[in-house]
Amino acid sequence: MSKLIIVPTPVGNLDDVSARAIDALARCDIILCEDTRVCSKLQNRLKIEKKMLLYRDDNEERQVPKIIGLIEEGNIVCLTSDAGTPGISDPGYRIVNACRRRKIPIESLPGPCALITALAASGLPSDGFLFLGFLPNKTSARTNMLKKYADFDYTLIFYESCHRILKFLKDLQSAMGATRVICVAREMTKMHEIFHVGEIGQIYDEIAAAAVKGEYVIVVAPQRFKFNP
Ligand code: SAM
Repeated sequence: MSKLIIVPTPVGNLDDVSARAIDALARCDIILCEDTRVCSKLQNRLKIEKKMLLYRDDNEERQVPKIIGLIEEGNIVCLTSDAGTPGISDPGYRIVNACRRRKIPIESLPGPCALITALAASGLPSDGFLFLGFLPNKTSARTNMLKKYADFDYTLIFYESCHRILKFLKDLQSAMGATRVICVAREMTKMHEIFHVGEIGQIYDEIAAAAVKGEYVIVVAPQRFKFNP
């Protein structure tokens, strides 16, 4: 039966692709991907060769009617992104929403997601949390967001690139104070994976002293939480 299958892919270690994800990719007709090189690498690893269709931030809206047409013609379509769960700080929700409106069956496979991996490993309160993804580039907009959520009673989670991690931590410290407890998760599941846990002031120094290359998730504890190593 034709359908859309949401297929999470590894955030680093290719062994993290699930058996169900492999099965879905092997059985489908078309794979939606952000970058054909990244998708081909995964396909080579899994020894499959499927037709790929680009579905990315800059063509998402344009592609939706075409993809709906392909599914309604009888194709099984897998939605992937470069890494992790599609739709989480990645393109995805528009095609899922369009399928919902057309009553097209959707299968959502659980799998790798950087924010969940970081939160689980952080040791910070995980009973409730707010994921805010990438904050705006502009300093004033970013600082306003951080101030707005400084007193939020649950854990906050952000994504950040290596180019802006130190700037992000500086702004976070200005908005929430040097003693707020955070976890910075870098390069999870990869060779240089590292988790820095402690107060912002100290973590800033650790990250500034280390090579800042790589991908980062920042987990911020609520103010009430204290960390005593
Ligand atoms: N869809 C993905 C997910 O499910 O996590 C997120 C895609 S978003 C474009 C990429 C961001 O996720 C990176 O800039 C970084 O903040 C975070 N990220 C992805 N992989 C990571 C990893 N292995 N270690 C740390 N952060 C990672």
